[in-house]
Amino acid sequence: MDLGILKQALAGKSGARLKLWMEICARCGLCAQGCHFFQSDPRPEHVPAYRLKPLAELIRKKGDVDEAFMQWLVDTAYGTCTMCQRCTMFCPHGISIAFLVRATRALAVSQGMTPQGLASGLANALEFGNNLGITEEEYIETVEWQLEELQAEMPDAVAPIDKKGAEVLVTFHPRDIKFYPQNLYCYLKLYNAAGLDFTLTSAKGWDSTNIGLFAGDDPAAAELAGRVVAAGENLGVRTILTAE
Ligand code: SF4
Ligand code: SF4
Repeated sequence: MDLGILKQALAGKSGARLKLWMEICARCGLCAQGCHFFQSDPRPEHVPAYRLKPLAELIRKKGDVDEAFMQWLVDTAYGTCTMCQRCTMFCPHGISIAFLVRATRALAVSQGMTPQGLASGLANALEFGNNLGITEEEYIETVEWQLEELQAEMPDAVAPIDKKGAEVLVTFHPRDIKFYPQNLYCYLKLYNAAGLDFTLTSAKGWDSTNIGLFAGDDPAAAELAGRVVAAGENLGVRTILTAE
């Protein structure tokens, strides 16, 4: 652990929104109704507001914590929250637990404590442009395969790649490319049936998920989002269509 870096990261998480939400949480527990963790296992630790405890403690202790504390923070911030935002719909103050969980995760990231599964997905995303490590060749082959299948049903169907000046750049969840190519078939069918002027990109900007954001790694999140934007700008599209 590096307490200096932790305190620095903590100081960077002191914006007005974070402070306000941390202060106004009334501990009323209404958010519990919205959380699937609480609904399936109604323990106090599964009340969404409980996820604020590590951050609140860290602020109170001004970053002077030990490894065991950080492990609790990691378990709480990563282990029992999918950052789905449902709880916010039930909070009378509209507090975004997901926003605060992401801020908490960034503190774990500052100590190199990103859980292994997320860290390897993030490494894939940075290297290959998608969190499942699909190569450009595999991606293009899958698109061509599904287009061929679709053309048996819709002979005029297209799946343009790197079409300059298209209206829309479509992106995908890597899971659909690697494990559920029939979903890609359905997307292409829908876009063609709708007469959408779309294109795909062969650049490292087709992954619509942002595992950096989910992991709480702000620089990586910015890098990944930037790649999607750059792909759209290079092709001159007006809209980028994201999946999940
Ligand atoms: S509903 Fe809102 S105010 Fe109440 S405990 Fe949950 S986050 Fe806090
Ligand atoms: S954001 Fe987290 S705490 Fe809120 S409902 Fe989703 S999983 Fe539960």
